[in-house]
Amino acid sequence: MTLPDPILSYLKEKHQISVKNVKAVSGGSINQAARVTANGQELFLKWNETAPKDMFDKEVKGLELLREAETGLVIPEVIAYNPEEDDTPGFLLMEYIEPYRGDGEASRSFGKQLARLHSHTGTFFGLDHDNYIGRLPQSNKSHSSWTSFFIHERIEPQLEQAFLKGTLQRSLLANWSRLAGRLEDIFPDSKPSLLHGDLWGGNYFFNNKHQAVLIDPAVYYGHPEMELSFTKMFGGFSNDFYDSYAFESPLDAGFSDRVEIYNLYPLLVHVNLFGGHYASQAISILNRY
Ligand code: ADP
Repeated sequence: MTLPDPILSYLKEKHQISVKNVKAVSGGSINQAARVTANGQELFLKWNETAPKDMFDKEVKGLELLREAETGLVIPEVIAYNPEEDDTPGFLLMEYIEPYRGDGEASRSFGKQLARLHSHTGTFFGLDHDNYIGRLPQSNKSHSSWTSFFIHERIEPQLEQAFLKGTLQRSLLANWSRLAGRLEDIFPDSKPSLLHGDLWGGNYFFNNKHQAVLIDPAVYYGHPEMELSFTKMFGGFSNDFYDSYAFESPLDAGFSDRVEIYNLYPLLVHVNLFGGHYASQAISILNRY
């Protein structure tokens, strides 16, 4: 695998970093990625020649917010990335962390630490800047109500995109309006909690000390149930993880009935990123309301 020359030149000129031993890393859904050796260190490089220029800048900001929360979760150290105004293709160079299998104890620590992350609360639902989920823009305008944030910043922008692309029919709006009108009664109250924002199974792994490592965030202050639902999108995490989370931060009754409502968001994001069969899942959820 070869890296784009402008990235190699940028790293050499601006950071005196010479990259060697490039090995492709798979598993990402949006960017190209490689494990590299540079100045005697093992590093992880991801890049994208077509994505919006500020995508990695926002990823770095998200990683910083997660790190500042001091939960015990491991956040890879950022070594270099290029600013938005630079012409080089967007890239992010960070510490390489070798993935290991986690055991039950590792999952229990992860659950507890995620609950700790969620105990960091803000004044509003949202964030002081917009960011990305995958390569789709994610709007984080402030709302004092979770329901209003969920409707206006999460579901409606994605629905609108799907209507414009024709992957979903505008007639679904009637179902969505019915559901939207009931959400205030369906969602339990919560403070705005710091969320990773894109926590599915591909965005964490364990290191050789059995600590959970978080990558690829789409951070904002939201409802903790939104994050827990997201973890259940593709098969879910282990029972140890959920038990330990709930021990640290008990769940409101009826959470499992709400999961598919929260997951309309990642589902619609998938409709807009990948189309196809995700559309029928979104339609069937909306048809139930
Ligand atoms: P994408 O933005 O394309 O989804 P990711 O950030 O999820 O890419 O990274 C792709 C894969 O690379 C991940 O699934 C993970 O296995 C691996 N990875 C990500 N960051 C690191 C890292 N710092 N060290 C080692 N492996 C990593």
